[in-house]
Order: sequence, then structure tokens, then C-alpha cells
Amino acid sequence: MTDTTRETTYQCPTCRRLELFVQPQCDDGHGEACPDWACVICGTALFVDSTFADGEQVEVEKVRRAPRVA
Ligand SMILES: [Zn+2]
Ligand SMILES: [Zn+2]
Repeated sequence: MTDTTRETTYQCPTCRRLELFVQPQCDDGHGEACPDWACVICGTALFVDSTFADGEQVEVEKVRRAPRVA
């Protein structure tokens, strides 16, 4: 388990340009493969399927974060 904040750039659908995305701490046990990314500019959350992340095409999907009750 690491506390390192991961970051990368994606084409943000809201900013309509490449923006820096950071990965919030994952509480879902995804670990390195966590698909959750958030734009540091507008906060848009992207769900990035890691099986596509290494390919030429990165499939992104806008997700709406619902408050989660544990
Ligand atoms: Zn953005
Ligand atoms: Zn996760």
C-alpha cells in the first residue's frame, strides 16, 4: 500500500484540453489498477479502464460520483 499520489494527463471532456488528472486515494481495493481519476482543474471524474490505458486509445467515461454509504 502506498500513499503516493499518482498523476497523469488526459483529455478532459469538460476543459476540452489536456489537463492534469490525479488519482484520489482508493478505498475500493483497486490498487495500481484503480480506474478513478479526477481533473485538478474542474474536478471532472474519469473512469479509465486500465485495460485500455496502455493502448493507443484511452476509453474514458464520465462518471457521476454518488455518495457511498459504507
Ligand atoms: Zn477538467
Ligand atoms: Zn479505486
